Amino acid sequence: MSVVFVLSAPSGSGKSTLVRRVLDADPKLAFSISYTTRRPRGSEKEGQNYHYTDRASFERMIANGEFLEWAEVFGNYYGTHRGYLDQAAEAGRDLVLDIDVQGAAQLKEKIPDAVSLFILAPSREELEKRLRARSEDAEEVIQRRLREAAEEIRHYHQYDYVLVNHEVEQSVERLQSIIAAERMRRNRMEVAIRPILESFRTDQVRTAGPPEK
Ligand code: 5GP
Repeated sequence: MSVVFVLSAPSGSGKSTLVRRVLDADPKLAFSISYTTRRPRGSEKEGQNYHYTDRASFERMIANGEFLEWAEVFGNYYGTHRGYLDQAAEAGRDLVLDIDVQGAAQLKEKIPDAVSLFILAPSREELEKRLRARSEDAEEVIQRRLREAAEEIRHYHQYDYVLVNHEVEQSVERLQSIIAAERMRRNRMEVAIRPILESFRTDQVRTAGPPEK
């Protein structure tokens, strides 16, 4: 069974950079490429950042039950296709999802064992600075993203972990620590532990005999 890591963050918190860094460093992690009805931005490519589709096709996919979760964010549909979880499980990989707070809540309902993590910029001021620095958005979009961030941050308590992204290298390390620790939870170690227990079996048989008089 794959471990499912769900990451959410207000726009500009640095989530995409952290996700990319962690994925590049760990071949046992796979990324779930979402479906969306929004248009590709700048250098984005089909099948790399998202699968781009139209509203009618997306709604058909909803009706067919193809999504593990889906939500409407900023007027566009976004959804996680079930296929990614099956593919990751087959490949023996854990799965990383970058989804919004509504999607994270749906996913936790469907997969209670999923590990959820909320990423935050250290302050509103810092978030504003980062949104301006990437100079991708018009002023009104920046103001809208800040208002949306205020709303999203209120949902932090739905998450298992909160990561305040002060500095990229430190945040990458912390994210990797969480991933490593979650993989070692006892319930996820059953398969790894079986051959070890098996190797001790003869000792167990011996010690399980009648008590010596
Ligand atoms: P953007 O358009 O900036 O790439 O993403 C906008 C928001 O949609 C982000 O908060 C992102 O995490 C979220 N998002 C991306 N893919 C999905 C998805 O498959 N499901 C849900 N619920 N949200 C998504």
